[in-house]
Amino acid sequence: MKNVKSNLKPTIGLEVHCELRTNSKLFCGCPADHFGKAPNTQTCPVCLGLPGELPVTNKKAVDWTVLLGLALGSKINKEAKFDRKHYFYPDLPMGFQISQYDEPFCLGGEIETSEGKVNLTRVHLEIDTGKLQHTTLNREDVSLIDFNRSGVALMEIVTEPEIHTGTQAKEFAKNLQQIIRYLGISDCDMEKGSMRLEANISWGLDLGYKVEVKNLNSFRFLEKAINYELNRQKKALDSGEKLLQETRGWSETKQKTFSQRTKETAEDYRYFPDPDLPPFAFEDDYIEDLRTSLPELPSHKKDRFVREFSLPQNYAQYLTQDKALSEFYEDTFKLSVKKNISPKVVANLIVNKGLTGKTPLEIVDTVRKMTIRNFSSSEEMDNALNKVLNEQGKAVDEYKSGKLQVIGFLIGMVQKKLGGKGEIQKIKEKLMNALR
Ligand SMILES: [Zn+2]
Repeated sequence: MKNVKSNLKPTIGLEVHCELRTNSKLFCGCPADHFGKAPNTQTCPVCLGLPGELPVTNKKAVDWTVLLGLALGSKINKEAKFDRKHYFYPDLPMGFQISQYDEPFCLGGEIETSEGKVNLTRVHLEIDTGKLQHTTLNREDVSLIDFNRSGVALMEIVTEPEIHTGTQAKEFAKNLQQIIRYLGISDCDMEKGSMRLEANISWGLDLGYKVEVKNLNSFRFLEKAINYELNRQKKALDSGEKLLQETRGWSETKQKTFSQRTKETAEDYRYFPDPDLPPFAFEDDYIEDLRTSLPELPSHKKDRFVREFSLPQNYAQYLTQDKALSEFYEDTFKLSVKKNISPKVVANLIVNKGLTGKTPLEIVDTVRKMTIRNFSSSEEMDNALNKVLNEQGKAVDEYKSGKLQVIGFLIGMVQKKLGGKGEIQKIKEKLMNALR
């Protein structure tokens, strides 16, 4: 450990799981939407792992995984396959998970963050597991299993270990969620568990350990768990302690991570190609068709909003946060142009007043009414102006003797009398006329 410390650098990789919102599960016809459904009502012999049943791949799930790869700039593997990943756990009825090992659908790719680009290792497709529920039944502690989730199509997005702060990890995950939502392939709802985060955290790959923090179900928890872990590990390393390869969880009540299990050696999942599922060979046309179906992605749309509508960065950021809102703004913009209302005024209303419950037409009408009603009449302006000219004799004299910047002060005084409802340009014109 000596002399290494100065080279230590936070080294963080993420694994993100997202459930696809296909109608049916990945290899059977059971409904994929399992949230809040009565336990074990959406199962069949395939997703229950009963012997003798054959899986049939859901084409949409494959298309969507490739689509995400294209959106992230991944290389699409023309030859890909499903593999069996073996482990024993009650929520995995087959005794293996159908996943992808050495030939996933997508390799590489990247996501931009304000602290730099984060490279991706891969994007692959696998099945989700069932859900365990630990509860009390007839005064006995029991573990119940709900297989409604078993077999649902689950994408896994893996980054290279090149994230360096909790904030960057949070930004990465948010950007990924935004891209996936733009594609409309998953609702990425962390509360429902359709987006799940895991972080691998250490102070360098060469230190020979890695701490995996699992089940982080909010962006905030991800950031907090990473910061906590980096601190904990740093203290241990500084005091010469040897850190273990382990899996930890995050406790929000205690604001710290806790050990779940340590692993001495890498688990042997005995991967092998699933003999029931023929490998894939994608044609160029298939990939190109998917590429042309890609929608405009959020970062591109944000830049375009800044350019096309002369919006400030933060407005463009806000308006493109989700696809529906960005389309709503564009629809409103098209209408407002016809009525001579500036795109900035419309943006301002949507950003600051949250007028999204209305239709674009209602918004445009609201803007028109506000602009007409809000301003003082010409008569009110004249009255206010005359009062100010009487009261501010000194400023008037200064202006007349050539101190032209006094006009700003006078405009302010008139505006004050009008309760802020005067049109600045008109007050200025009137003042200059009166002082000529
Ligand atoms: Zn099924």
